Parts: sequence; structure tokens; C-alpha cells
Amino acid sequence: MRVAVIGLGTMGAPMAGHLLDAGHEVTVHNRTRERELPLAERGAARAATPAEAAAGVDAVLVCVSDTPDLDAVVFGADGVAQGLAAGGTVIDCSTVSPSATAELAERLAAQGIGLVDAPVSGGSEGAENGTLTIFVGGSPDHVERAQPILQAFGKRITHLGPSGCGQMAKAVNQVMIAGTYATVGEGIALAQAAGLPLEQLMEALSAGAASSWVLANRAQNMVDDSYPLGFKVSLHRKDVAIALDEAGRLGLDLGVSQVVLAEEDDLIGEGHGDEDVSALARIAKRRSVRP
Ligand code: NAP
Repeated sequence: MRVAVIGLGTMGAPMAGHLLDAGHEVTVHNRTRERELPLAERGAARAATPAEAAAGVDAVLVCVSDTPDLDAVVFGADGVAQGLAAGGTVIDCSTVSPSATAELAERLAAQGIGLVDAPVSGGSEGAENGTLTIFVGGSPDHVERAQPILQAFGKRITHLGPSGCGQMAKAVNQVMIAGTYATVGEGIALAQAAGLPLEQLMEALSAGAASSWVLANRAQNMVDDSYPLGFKVSLHRKDVAIALDEAGRLGLDLGVSQVVLAEEDDLIGEGHGDEDVSALARIAKRRSVRP
């Protein structure tokens, strides 16, 4: 397929690489244009604007930070909507608002363009290895057309309903991992304070009921008190806010998520917003570990 990829950050760049490996005809565009170069060396065409990238392709994959960024890339000046022909599909792998996604889908549908929301889970490792879990929303015909693209970097792809349902599922995912990051951090703070042998403890924990992706992939950051990316605190904070907003609309009060949101606000205020989310352990440690 002819596919454009817009947003070549931690997640988008390896997604574009997998699309090239799978034999698709790929055009890339990134706001910071230098980020296009490694993909151009691997055979991708470069485009100066989202509209130029979208001209003449079957689908446009977008992976940018937040809802206003998606809106700007699709409907801004020189946006995707000005380049993509009717019948084309926009596949959004960013994590953004489910409600805004449903509205965006309506605006695109007025131009004959389909929107498939396809937020992902599995971290930077999942993007590099092409093993992401993908939560999908959209009309069945456009979801079907998006499959060859999603299969290039997704291991489990689940269609959950119309536009916005993929993003709502991702909000559920982010609520669940919010508590996990926070409590794995607390557990490590407790283990360090108690002087337990951490390497053996991690092996034991991972074989029992405390096992989780966060424990397997991010506990070492917390042990080392070093938080390289991964997934930025600021991006997870954005996701928790999305989930709380949707929960509020549904009359729900998500207490643990509120606590994690406040902790992430503290981290961002202290200058840790660009660290990996495992930096939540900083807060657990300073509350719990004896000097
Ligand atoms: P990232 O490394 O910060 O990359 C963000 C990308 O979006 C960059 O290419 C950036 O361009 C572009 N961008 C942001 N705002 C833009 C705008 N207004 N106009 C044009 N381009 C814009 O972020 P990431 O980690 O790849 O995350 C991307 C999305 O995936 C986010 O929604 C995130 O929540 C989600 N996600 C991330 C992970 C993870 O582990 N990292 C896992 C699952 C889902 P520049 O290069 O010019 O800044």
C-alpha cells in the first residue's frame, strides 16, 4: 500500500520502519524535519507538509502527542485533510481524546475520508519489535483497509466498535497502568528500605501474582533511580487526564488515577516530565525510603 507516516517520535519512527520492512511504499513527514532522514536512508520518500505527504496515498498514519496536535496535523494549514483524496483512510496511533476522535471522524467523513483510531500499548520496545497491542475504533470497511498497515507493527489488533472506541479502550489501559507504575514504585521503595536482595526479589515477584509488564520492563529503572525513555511522564499525565475527563462524563470518580495525576503534576513541576513514567518511583521513594 501507499502510506504516509506523520509524527516520527519514539513510536512513529519504528512504525514507519516496520512499514518499509513489510514492503509498503512509505512517505514520511515530521515537524522537526531531520527526524525524517534515517527513514529516507531506508527508502522512504520525504514530504514537506502533512498535505504533501497525504497526496496520492491510500492511508495516512499519524502518531503525534496530544489531541490538539492531531487536530493541527489533520485540519491545520497544509493538513492531511487538504491532501488526502476521498476514499482514503486516516489511521491515528496517537493516544488522544475518545470524544474528540468521534468528532474528527465526522468531519473527515464529510470529505469521504475514513478515520480509524488505533492507539497502541506495549511501550517503545513494542514499537521497535513490532509487537504492539492495538485498540481499534472505526467503521468495519476502513478498519479492514487499515489491517495490512496495523499488522506491520501490531501483534494483537482488536476492533472494539465505532470511532472513539479504540481511544476509550486505551484510556482503560492507561488507568490500569497508572496504578501499576505507582505501586511497583512503592513496592521497590519498601524493598530497598527493608534491605532485601533486589535481583532475587525481582525474579521471585515476576513468577507470582505481582508479575506485570511494568515489573518486567521498568522495575530496574526504579531500582537504579534512573528513568530513561520509554514513555514520557508528561504523555502519561495527558492520558490519565483524558481518562478522568471521560470518566467524569460517565459519572465515575477514579480515585487512584486522581492520585497518580497529582503525582505526575508534581514530577512535571520538578522538571521530570520528559523522564520515563517509571519516575513515579521518585515520589514513592522520597515518601518511603529512610535516608
Ligand atoms: P514523542 O517521541 O514525543 O513524539 C511525538 C511526535 O509528535 C514527534 O514526532 C513530534 O514532532 C510530533 N508532534 C507533536 N506535536 C505536533 C504538532 N502539533 N504538529 C506536528 N507534529 C507534532 O512521543 P511518542 O512517545 O512517540 O508518543 C506519540 C503518541 O503515542 C502519544 O500520543 C503517546 O501518548 C502515544 N504512546 C506512546 C508510547 C511510548 O511508550 N512512548 C506508548 C504508547 C502510546 P517533533 O519531532 O517535531 O517534536
